[in-house]
Amino acid sequence: MTKEPLRRTKILATLGPASDAPGVLEALFKAGVDVVRLNFSHGSAQDHINRAEAVRALSRKTNRLVGILADLQGPKIRIERFTETKVWLDDGQAFALDINFDPKNGDNTQVGISYEPLAHEVKPGSRLLLDDGRIVLDVVDVVNMRVNCTVVVGGHLSNNKGINLMGGGLSAAALTDKDREDIKTVAKIDCDYVAISFPRCAEDLNEARRLLQAEGCYAGIVAKVERAEAIVVDVLDEIILASDAVMVARGDLGVEIGDARLPAVQKYLIQRARTLDRIAITATQMMESMIDNPIPTRAEVCDVANAVFDGTDAIMLSAETASGKHPVKAVEAMVRVCLEAEKEVSVRVSKHRVDKQFERVDEAIAMSAMYMANHSNVKGIVSLTESGSTPLWMSRISSGIPIYAFSSQAHTLGKVTLYRGVFPVLFTLDADDDHAEVNRKIVARLRKRHLAEMGDRFIITKGDLTGVQGGTNALKVVTIGEGLTP
Ligand code: PGA
Ligand code: MN
Repeated sequence: MTKEPLRRTKILATLGPASDAPGVLEALFKAGVDVVRLNFSHGSAQDHINRAEAVRALSRKTNRLVGILADLQGPKIRIERFTETKVWLDDGQAFALDINFDPKNGDNTQVGISYEPLAHEVKPGSRLLLDDGRIVLDVVDVVNMRVNCTVVVGGHLSNNKGINLMGGGLSAAALTDKDREDIKTVAKIDCDYVAISFPRCAEDLNEARRLLQAEGCYAGIVAKVERAEAIVVDVLDEIILASDAVMVARGDLGVEIGDARLPAVQKYLIQRARTLDRIAITATQMMESMIDNPIPTRAEVCDVANAVFDGTDAIMLSAETASGKHPVKAVEAMVRVCLEAEKEVSVRVSKHRVDKQFERVDEAIAMSAMYMANHSNVKGIVSLTESGSTPLWMSRISSGIPIYAFSSQAHTLGKVTLYRGVFPVLFTLDADDDHAEVNRKIVARLRKRHLAEMGDRFIITKGDLTGVQGGTNALKVVTIGEGLTP
């Protein structure tokens, strides 16, 4: 019996203490996680190495490839610590952030900070948002590196909470000294993607790529879009083009541009990434209430479904799986909501690229395959691929037809774990296989994986079987059982 249905939208789950508990990682695999995130904002290098090894071991054991994304902390600007761990701030009171103040002994009138430039980058009237916007401070004046503020929205404030400037504009470079150190660990971990936090421009991503490659790491680069200056139109296109995937990092972005702008920016970012042949990840608070509760809110269900309607490749879980009470249930809920949302006709039909000229033969073949798949009775598409570019192009076109990336390249299989509607299949050819033999092997593999039944029609795209990149130049249609040994 054919296994149905296949979920196209990929689930990216952050690992942490909750997923370290016995049996949880395996349960997350079973529930349907496609890619895991190692969050370098928390935990030691060894924690991440151990988790990556556990994921690779489980992938082998369960014969299910799960991708790994290492997420660098970046220049998150934070307050220092309080004597009493946390303080209460009243609306309207005075409160100061002071670079020269004792970093361990803040109180309810002042606290230390470690980001030197803050005093130069704010002016009277600047609005600072602490703890993801829960606490709001307005700058009154700056005296000797001490930023004096009035509390606009008070509440509890605890150690090391993040600081954002409303409207953006803090100049901190995207790669910190810690990130540069972590890049060495990341290169040792066999990971498929590396996420760069708070990039300001394409050069931040190019630099990260250079540093990683110097360490021998060729992982895909994910740009986390979380600064106001990154969503300026031309800058955004450059950032998207300099990366392999973009993340709508709604946590920090929402603080910098205001939460009300997020829905429209999310839609624009996803569409722009797809148009420029890049992958999109939608992140943060998607199932937030499931940190404590076993079921999501209606609003969360709608948020996940709406991200699917927007065309996202992947949806991300943060604390829900890293430190929440119900990590497995959170993934199960996402699976359920995605599958239902993907039944909507609008996410299966393509507003195809009518006004585009294809310069490359392989891209033209990819588009032709999708046109045929969407407009005739096709069960699936098999793309024989070295670099993964043919299934990437295919997956930029909305469709309900699964795309199987058949590749002998481990790094290509790892990358496609994030592509919407693309499923990795390890596949090697013998040097003397001719086209007929390759077709037979593909059909046999589909049958073995229960992905095809007698009479099903499949599209196969491939090149001249030389194993060179950019070689896809043929589109073949096969019907299972006809002229082929199954
Ligand atoms: P973070 O990034 O979870 O590393 O902060 C995502 C976001 O800001 O939304
Ligand atoms: Mn962030």
